[in-house]
Amino acid sequence: MESLKSIEDDFLMVAQAAIETFGRKTQTQKACEELAELLVELQHELDGRGDEKKIAEEMADVYIVFTQLIFMLSEEGAEHYENMFIFKYERLKKRLKKVQRRRNMQH
Ligand SMILES: [Mg+2]
Repeated sequence: MESLKSIEDDFLMVAQAAIETFGRKTQTQKACEELAELLVELQHELDGRGDEKKIAEEMADVYIVFTQLIFMLSEEGAEHYENMFIFKYERLKKRLKKVQRRRNMQH
């Protein structure tokens, strides 16, 4: 089995090749299917029927198709994605700090 690092090295090229080979529509449908499969496994986790191996399998599928979705964005879409990612990431960090400060004051 390849190491995670060597997989990362050609991961982006494979994502691009998948879109070119199978087409945007097929890969968008694939993304819908994989997201739905992960959703089901996560809901099973919440209702007590969770299977960590199934969740991990679907996470791998979703990670692969998610990367393809990024490649399908236009230049403008990709820029918006990047801006939204940074905005939401910074917002989460601020929220975490706020909650952690509040908890520290209580103890
Ligand atoms: Mg799957």
